[in-house]
Order: sequence, then structure tokens, then C-alpha cells
Amino acid sequence: MKLIISQLNEGENPFSFNSISEPWLTKLVQSITEKGYQFVTPLSTEFKLIKSEPDYFIKGKINFGIEQSCARCAESFALNIKHPFGVSLAHIASSRPQKAPEKDEETDLDINFFEGNEIDLAPILEEQFFLSLPYQSICSESCKGICQSCGQNLNEKLCGCSHKDLASPFSVLQHMHI
Ligand SMILES: [Zn+2]
Ligand SMILES: [Zn+2]
Repeated sequence: MKLIISQLNEGENPFSFNSISEPWLTKLVQSITEKGYQFVTPLSTEFKLIKSEPDYFIKGKINFGIEQSCARCAESFALNIKHPFGVSLAHIASSRPQKAPEKDEETDLDINFFEGNEIDLAPILEEQFFLSLPYQSICSESCKGICQSCGQNLNEKLCGCSHKDLASPFSVLQHMHI
């Protein structure tokens, strides 16, 4: 989806899309799926594109559910993500030299660049998708993980091993309270 900047109102332009009804977003979800991510709900986004010549900003959120593998017990589970984001769009006029993208520390906005008179939404949303994924996902705060000795998933049942050295510091704390 490419937004033509001359067709945007000065000020706030609200948009909302989801991957069921928007073919370009369906295509984005497919291309992310091909990279090995399994969606369990459609992807949707709501944002305001703020035009304040010569500056453009996007503020909004993306929502989706995705299958993740737990970092403690290795089981698959569905993780629902609601990711707020802010992107500052710098317009590159062909006469101006291009600057490397840099993080704007003061506003904590990601800075993207666009050329010409169109803003292409798919790459912006794809970037936000990847930024929204947690570094490590756990199926539940109380996940007990797997036994380091025998590999038993300790959420299902306890094994006969001694568990003095549990992998997770959280589990160690739990045991100290008993
Ligand atoms: Zn787990
Ligand atoms: Zn064990």
C-alpha cells in the first residue's frame, strides 16, 4: 500500500487495515510466514499519519498473534502482541544528499526515509513486526522448564532427578519459599 503524500491532509490522517480485507497486508503476512513465522490470528494495524510539511510521522500500533517456542520448556504456544510504534519519515529530495538512518534519541522515534511522492507502508510495518517480537518468549511466567538431566517437561510432571540446579532463577526462588 502506497500513500500518495499530496493526497494526505495536513495534520492527522487516520488509517486502519487488517490482513483479512487488505490484499497488500495479506501478502506481507505471507512473506513473513515464508521466513518461518506462524501467525495464529490476522495482523491488524491502526495508526495516524501526521503530515506537517516537510515532516511526516506515523504513530500507531500493530496487533497479531504468533506461534512462539517457549525459551524454558520449548513447547509451542500462541503469543498475542500489541505493539505501539512511532516512526518519523524523512523525505529525501533527490537533490539532497542521503543520510544514514539514525535513532532519534529525544523522541525515541524510529527514522525511516522515503523518496518521491509516495510512502510505502508494507516495509514500515514489516520492520515494526520484527521490532515487536520479544527477544525471548516464555509460555507462562510460572513455566517450570525442562529437567536439565532427563529432559522431562516439568510443567507436565516432575521427574525423579534432583532439582537443586534448576535452569531458571525464578524456579529456584519458588523452591526457596517452600
Ligand atoms: Zn514454557
Ligand atoms: Zn529429570
